[in-house]
Amino acid sequence: MRTPIIAGNWKMYKTIGEAVELVKALLGGLDASLVKDREVLVCPPYTALYAVRPLLVGTAISLGAQDVHPEPQGAYTSAIAPGMLVDVGCSAVIIGHSERRQYFGETDASVNKKIGAALGVGLRPIVCVGELKAERDAGQAEAVVGGQLAGGLAGLSAEQMLKLVIAYEPVWAIGTGDTATPADAQAMHAFIRSRLQAQFGAEVAEAVRIQYGGSVKPDNVDELMAQPDIDGALVGGAALKADSFLRIVHFR
Ligand code: PEP
Repeated sequence: MRTPIIAGNWKMYKTIGEAVELVKALLGGLDASLVKDREVLVCPPYTALYAVRPLLVGTAISLGAQDVHPEPQGAYTSAIAPGMLVDVGCSAVIIGHSERRQYFGETDASVNKKIGAALGVGLRPIVCVGELKAERDAGQAEAVVGGQLAGGLAGLSAEQMLKLVIAYEPVWAIGTGDTATPADAQAMHAFIRSRLQAQFGAEVAEAVRIQYGGSVKPDNVDELMAQPDIDGALVGGAALKADSFLRIVHFR
């Protein structure tokens, strides 16, 4: 059995004060009996990590970041090192989000380096893959996602792979309100699992959690989470309000 994992990606939203308010509202609304069998993670902007950390210690919500630099330290103006994320209380980090790929030149090779660096300090990488609309329309969705997996996960051992979470996020569904149908999402998740099986073996493929991301909302989460290969959600817009994120976290 794979423990479902629901993560909120706050992107470049929330001041420190707003982040603290949102975390307090989430903690206040969390139904402990519903979340005992699932993992919940919030990924605020870097500037809010230190402020929200003390609120989350000992709660059912863990802390993650939205990106990381692969080097342990150095002259990399503006970048944040893996050890710094651990220092501020993060247990996970999103790597290779499509917005990083699209606007900041993230490549499968840089994703691969960042995964290694994150694992090196004990952070759980949440590795994002997903195709553009034009690629899906051209029948290339599996080829694109397969390529991202091959490049991003190159050289990892089975033991390392077990520590990762994969997030399938079709780019055309992110922030658009245009969710993949549960059947289409399930088909891609099954494909991803088959690729994991080919590279790491059946046992690892069965154990690795694959989140769906792309306009997950309170009104579609239950159907998505009912799919056999969907093990969680990476949530953007709906993670910015306590009531909508809580409803997603409390999926049935
Ligand atoms: C995301 O940021 O990863 C995401 C899926 O955003 P949204 O839920 O807004 O589509």
